Amino acid sequence: KLHNTILELKGNIRVFCRVRPLLLDDAAEDDPKTVSFHTTTENLGRGIELLQNGQKHSFVFDKVFVPESSQEEVFVEVSQLVQSALDGYKVCIFAYGQTGSGKTHTMMGTPGNDDDKGLIPRSLEQIFESRQMLQNQGWKYEMQVSMLEIYNETIRDLLTTNRPGSTDSRTKQYAIKHDANGNTYVSDLTVVDVHSSREVSFLLNRAAQSRSVGMTQMNEQSSRSHFVFTLRITGVNDSTEQQVQGVLNLIDLAGSERLSKSGSTGDRLKETQAINKSLSSLSDVIFALAKKEEHVPFRNSKLTYLLQPCLGGDSKTLMVVNVSPTPSSVNESLCSLRFAARVN
Ligand code: ADP
Ligand code: MG
Repeated sequence: KLHNTILELKGNIRVFCRVRPLLLDDAAEDDPKTVSFHTTTENLGRGIELLQNGQKHSFVFDKVFVPESSQEEVFVEVSQLVQSALDGYKVCIFAYGQTGSGKTHTMMGTPGNDDDKGLIPRSLEQIFESRQMLQNQGWKYEMQVSMLEIYNETIRDLLTTNRPGSTDSRTKQYAIKHDANGNTYVSDLTVVDVHSSREVSFLLNRAAQSRSVGMTQMNEQSSRSHFVFTLRITGVNDSTEQQVQGVLNLIDLAGSERLSKSGSTGDRLKETQAINKSLSSLSDVIFALAKKEEHVPFRNSKLTYLLQPCLGGDSKTLMVVNVSPTPSSVNESLCSLRFAARVN
């Protein structure tokens, strides 16, 4: 059954699929023969089939990455999109998928392993290198970074110097505001001027620490929350008097796995509802944009409201759908692929 046959770019929305390799830990619990992923010869590099006990599910994306694909190979396909933020475009790159499917690996990579760096560090290196070269053409850039987490429809500042969980950081409202120029502000959010990719790495580490502190307190929060990295770029060219304002948003989404509503109660139920709501709002928004519908329901979740100025219009969106190859996750993988097919 062919779920989608998108063969051309729909507006500025693109969807990639990445299947992670089987890991040693997976092998113990799964029989790999019942489920397998195959790339297709039709739509080379873009088609993927999932075989489940003889049943075949086919999908086509803008690009498919196989378990052997390296971080470098993924970045090559993304680098132009990243570059366009320097030209003044607003860019969003999302990693979508169930917990354990490789979202954080795709975005951040493995800490301490330089070859395994993900999209975020590679993007920043490219941007700061390009900035250096564009200086020769008269461009001067100012760059600002902010990092936040959305958990249970509440924003948490990951760069605040207040202790995470302290009364001060908890009582702040972090309201999302859009100004007349179409920019978003989050009140009270820490925004840091940055001048090198090393400075940003430092901030990323700080954010990761801030996240993991929250995690022990709040039950594996990192897979239950959205991580939003934002780089704002302001460029002026003194000789040509051109001005640009670009934004690069890199988003590691909460795990998309369907937690059974019946089984969960209290905080867990609230968490589940918040994640379901924001992921389905995101899909609704992107779907409405792709179909060029008049009404785009940005206001249905914090995530879509926050990113509103960077979705739609002439902004550019990429969704990387991560799937795990294990038989035990086949239903979740199918859900993710169908979600992406809808987005596509
Ligand atoms: P998620 O963030 O979606 O929960 P992770 O990125 O943490 O998933 O990945 C789960 C595990 O799989 C981690 O141990 C990660 O290092 C590994 N992994 C994910 N993708 C790859 C890949 N492409 N190559 C090698 N290992 C991977
Ligand atoms: Mg993760």
